[in-house]
Amino acid sequence: MSRPVITRFAPSPTGLFHVGSARTALYNYLFSKQQGGAFFLRIEDTDKERSKPEFEDNIRDSLDWLGISHTGPLYRQSERGDIYETYILKLLKSNAAYISDEEKDGKPSQVIRFRNTGETIEFEDIIRGNIKIDTTDLGDFVIARSTREPLYHLAVVIDDYESGVTHIIRGEDHISNTPRQILLIRAIGGIVPQYAHMPMILGADKSKLSKRHGATSVTSYKALGYLPHALINYLALLGWHPSESEQEIFTLEELLEQFKLENLQKAGAVFDSEKLNWINKQHIGLLSTDEFLHYALDWLPQSFKDSSDWSEEVFSRMIPMIKERISVFNEIREMGLSGELSYFFSQPEFLIDSLLWKDDTREQAIEHLTKASTMIADMPELSSEEDYKKCLWEYAENQGKGSVLWPLRYALSGRDRSPNPFEIISIIGTAKTLERIDNALIMLRS
Ligand code: GLU
Repeated sequence: MSRPVITRFAPSPTGLFHVGSARTALYNYLFSKQQGGAFFLRIEDTDKERSKPEFEDNIRDSLDWLGISHTGPLYRQSERGDIYETYILKLLKSNAAYISDEEKDGKPSQVIRFRNTGETIEFEDIIRGNIKIDTTDLGDFVIARSTREPLYHLAVVIDDYESGVTHIIRGEDHISNTPRQILLIRAIGGIVPQYAHMPMILGADKSKLSKRHGATSVTSYKALGYLPHALINYLALLGWHPSESEQEIFTLEELLEQFKLENLQKAGAVFDSEKLNWINKQHIGLLSTDEFLHYALDWLPQSFKDSSDWSEEVFSRMIPMIKERISVFNEIREMGLSGELSYFFSQPEFLIDSLLWKDDTREQAIEHLTKASTMIADMPELSSEEDYKKCLWEYAENQGKGSVLWPLRYALSGRDRSPNPFEIISIIGTAKTLERIDNALIMLRS
């Protein structure tokens, strides 16, 4: 009878949760879900000095944010002394391990060592194929500091065995750990799981991705306004591609359908922020109005929402325009802070002369704005960009587009650069537009 698939993610809480770890968690999660199995989260906090509760919180928060859920409660190695002791005593009793009297910092100290016969360990890696490693040089390696304090390799092995882990999917930097762990699994009477050692994530210079390449923590991507599912999408593609299509945009459900552990590539995958931005932009494009609002309202600076004419309804109408302009939500914040969007929610301020197109006189500007105003007044309050364009286009073409559309756009935005006037009108509506044209006319006549 085949065992149910069980995977695990076993981070050490010694720093902010790295995108590489997120990818490891994701692949384990996807694989176990696909197989109808379980996926455990184990906190490897045996390194007392480097492990910090805030980093464990960061791991949990990041996984929650990404939508990667695990089976049952998480468990911590630091709380499993009793379990480890049972196994270590058994290993000592069966003579697979022994207590060795040694010296540490000039003082006598005892450690527990594994009796290593030095055989060649061979295993089939799902990604890398057959791997053979001679263990002679490892000698009788240390497995515990005391009967309650296993070192890393033994703790991993006992935990994997206790939770019935069938597949170990982890970074290829762990390949050299595998022979020691296989020796220990056999010694405790466990079944050797299947291994899949994933390619590393690299920076643009092809060295292992680290802080010097820029943002590496999930927290920093969250803070920059990436969508969790876009980050998931991007991480899934770092080392995996569908075999039968060129598809690049995936929902989590699609990844669950299409992801294949066997299709993971062997070569390291370069982290490409531009590609990530592109993927994020595609996912932003797919958000419904409500979903977009949910994110965007959090990102807009408060000062912006305090503007005199602030309205969520007007903001909703800006969504297509904003979607076109941003790749990450932080850009909405920047737009808000720079004042680039403020004229949608408050009467713009400007100098009269900026209303004039090239050498046009005030009289010409007055004439065109007055005419535009009468034409716009016939339009229903909220018409489409296309309809406002139809209403004004012929007149603008006859009179000179610059002479008609520049003062109009300026009266609405007060800025040298902005979306075209039809788009602005379709967002602020007919009534607000007429009000702003009136204001400009008052200024021009003064
Ligand atoms: N705690 C190890 C790490 O953070 C992972 C151990 C494993 O996956 O076997 O690299």
